[in-house]
Amino acid sequence: MCPGSDIAHATPAAGTRPGALAALADEAARTSLRAAPPEFDFPEDDGPLYEARKKVYPQHVEGTYRRIKWIILAVTLGIYYFLPFVRWDRGPNAPSQAVLIDFPARRFYFFFIEIWPQEFYYLTGLLILAAMGLFLMNAVAGRLWCGYLCPQTVWTDLFQAIERFAQGDRREHLQLDREPWTADKIYRTILKHFLWLMVAWWTGGAWVLYFGDAFDTVHDLATFEAPFIAYAFIGILTFTTYTLAGWMREQVCVYMCPWPRIQAALTDEYALNVTYRYDRGEPRASVKKAEALRAHGAPAGDCIDCHQCIHVCPTGIDIRQGPNLGCIQCGLCIDACDAVMAKVGRPTRLIAYDTDINIKRRQEGLAPFYRIVRTRTVLYAVIMIAISGIMAYALATRHNDAVNVIHDRNPLFVRLADGAVRNAYGVRLINKTLEEKSFALTVTGLADAEVEVIGAASRSGGNPVIEVGPDQTREVRVLVTTHQKLAPGASIPLIFTIVPANGGTPASADDHFLGP
Ligand code: SF4
Ligand code: SF4
Repeated sequence: MCPGSDIAHATPAAGTRPGALAALADEAARTSLRAAPPEFDFPEDDGPLYEARKKVYPQHVEGTYRRIKWIILAVTLGIYYFLPFVRWDRGPNAPSQAVLIDFPARRFYFFFIEIWPQEFYYLTGLLILAAMGLFLMNAVAGRLWCGYLCPQTVWTDLFQAIERFAQGDRREHLQLDREPWTADKIYRTILKHFLWLMVAWWTGGAWVLYFGDAFDTVHDLATFEAPFIAYAFIGILTFTTYTLAGWMREQVCVYMCPWPRIQAALTDEYALNVTYRYDRGEPRASVKKAEALRAHGAPAGDCIDCHQCIHVCPTGIDIRQGPNLGCIQCGLCIDACDAVMAKVGRPTRLIAYDTDINIKRRQEGLAPFYRIVRTRTVLYAVIMIAISGIMAYALATRHNDAVNVIHDRNPLFVRLADGAVRNAYGVRLINKTLEEKSFALTVTGLADAEVEVIGAASRSGGNPVIEVGPDQTREVRVLVTTHQKLAPGASIPLIFTIVPANGGTPASADDHFLGP
């Protein structure tokens, strides 16, 4: 049965009587005036500041966008839940987990990439890339992130699927909520919350697997040998997932999340958004009424006012009222309306990704146009390519060895009894390989400088040699002394260079030698 047919049946058929037809045409014209172009009538009275939540019962829908959402849900959740179990061979002394945040060793492993604390500028690059990606999505097609990729959307989608499994689709669930508490209702309600809690618990459990070897952590958790902090985090994430995806759902998107407000400031008139094509849809009329109107040349829109687009909406809004901050642009109303249009024999995409500009152009008899390539989309894409290129270059050319130098702050220099001047430095050597390494330290820039490393047992070619363990850093104290007569307030540039004893590329760092 056509989803709009109940409405069509409820409306008296117009038949072909001239008087009835004239009344229909008048009504259609009035409706058209009332419902056409949602032109943002700002209400004079803002209304109460608080409105109690109206529970949303989103109806299941089939279609292109629903399929896309299922695929994205399966891929993103699959990655999140199972990635910690993926192995990556880095050699005998390194962890074999592909993605691992190793807090004790202060390392982040991502497949073949190993990020040290000194390299957290990569994280900055990733954050800028993520921001630009969001801006680009927004400029191309509005809230793509919100509708398809945001964790709140993905988990809410999963929780709603569980809810339908346990308590039925929209109509059945509404009926169930109206019924008194029976054994069946209690059973279904408990089943839903049990399944929600299981998913929430698994979500929290998967999170802690990223912070230690996944297989060992599962064993430790199961045998209650894991640290308290692991159980605490599982508890916190179980609670937040259950609450946000199960209970708060659309309220997070509508009231809590700042992104809808930010994107409202970022978007422009060319961004594609889920749009009700009121030029086609208005004036609304039931199927029979619209047919009668069309048969007599009177205006009749394609919208049959069946409310299917509202019933499937996860935030419970009516897209026909125009742009709305509550619309997460998930496209499910497109699927619902397409199914209705197919059933009533009208062209699909009455609701579609489109722009208001195109609606106005069609109303003026002009062809619609789509401008994906514009200054802002090109700018975002260029920034993303540039940052990706810089990060890839930095990763490809980074050295396995590095040295950092920090001059002593107090005292800046010391005058020795024989008149010589001494500066002291903290020097950190970094060995990112999986073998122990020896480095010869040289300091250039100050002729005849004597270099002494506290704790260095050996020298090579007159230079102190420092051993650094595999995949480790070592900090040493270095004293540089000169007998030269220095100009008052001298600040002489120095270069500290470490040369691997077994060959390899030297690494260096700059600092200064300060005089009295
Ligand atoms: S826009 Fe489509 S789904 Fe929504 S009420 Fe009209 S016909 Fe029904
Ligand atoms: S109005 Fe349509 S696109 Fe917007 S949230 Fe509702 S179903 Fe999704």
